[in-house]
Amino acid sequence: MALISYMSRIQFDFGALRLLPEELGLLGVKRPLLVTDAGVRSAGLAERVLASLGGVPPVFEDTPSNPTEAAAEAALALHRAHGCDGVVALGGGSAIDLAKAVALLATHPGSLGDYGVRGGGSARIGEIAPVLAIPTTAGTGAEVGRAATLTLRSGRKIACVSPGLIPKTAICDPELTLSLPPMMTAATGMDALSHGIESYLSSGINPPAAAIALDCVERAGRWIERAVAHGEDREARWQMLMAALEGGLTFQKGLGAVHAAGHPLGALGYHHGTLNAILLPPVLRFNAPAVPEKIARLKAALCLTPGDDLADWTEQLTRRIGLPTRLSELGLDPVLIPDLAEEASHEHLSETNPRPATTADYRRILEAAFR
Ligand SMILES: [Zn+2]
Repeated sequence: MALISYMSRIQFDFGALRLLPEELGLLGVKRPLLVTDAGVRSAGLAERVLASLGGVPPVFEDTPSNPTEAAAEAALALHRAHGCDGVVALGGGSAIDLAKAVALLATHPGSLGDYGVRGGGSARIGEIAPVLAIPTTAGTGAEVGRAATLTLRSGRKIACVSPGLIPKTAICDPELTLSLPPMMTAATGMDALSHGIESYLSSGINPPAAAIALDCVERAGRWIERAVAHGEDREARWQMLMAALEGGLTFQKGLGAVHAAGHPLGALGYHHGTLNAILLPPVLRFNAPAVPEKIARLKAALCLTPGDDLADWTEQLTRRIGLPTRLSELGLDPVLIPDLAEEASHEHLSETNPRPATTADYRRILEAAFR
């Protein structure tokens, strides 16, 4: 069965931010809460948004690098105290995920733990308060994605997944990514590339998403090095923000073992994009025998020759843009690998990996990524 669903309204180009008041008007939002983080605020981006909104909307700027239930509830309190009727998310995936959680809790009973995908929570998610997302990184695709990943007070990480969580509007202005430092450009860019590769290879049936995924891979593969080396290059920034958006549009086809193995590692505090860059080569080596034709098409999109190895290419790219290529470089304790493998095998994202992956398979993948 193919479920094909595109729901977001997207304004995309340099200068798109000026459309914010108009787009909020179309959503009927009169009193938005601005959710952002301290880094975005100190880069002066939040001030630009506030200036364009004229008045002084309440601002929640304490988004942690991995969003938490406590932060969502603190932002929710602000939302309620000011009688807000929608959320503007400004930032990377963390701020956007947090905004989705606030909009969910503002309109639904109970706590975040009731809405995790693993506990059947998706069926309980209906219409949420309107979210307008403005990405300041080019990678997560959260501006059009249907998931929000947060850490509960118990320390457990949950993913809330529902079409209801997709932001109603995304304003993608590459201007806001010009000041992103090289390492963040590299790590978030590899996240975008991994979305294209994983969703293209996933077992989900969704030809439009597959076509978008191939374009995402072609674009990210061609422009990521330029964006990292020359952050001021407007063409490279435009292309990488488009690749990130396309990656987000492909989530509905499903992801795979890179993200499944990356989630429990992410709960330890490592950067999501860096983890994906490290995990891509061993997962591609594991998946390649199951999907040879798709691997050939990915190589063609990246202008590789049939004799080139896609896993080797991604590993060399990761090294060239200055990211670690091994989990050992992150300081991971290898004693944790068996437990991480067990958790990865239970991730919902593992269900669409093109080759079924057992706990033992994940252990081998993580050991290869560690060495
Ligand atoms: Zn990702």
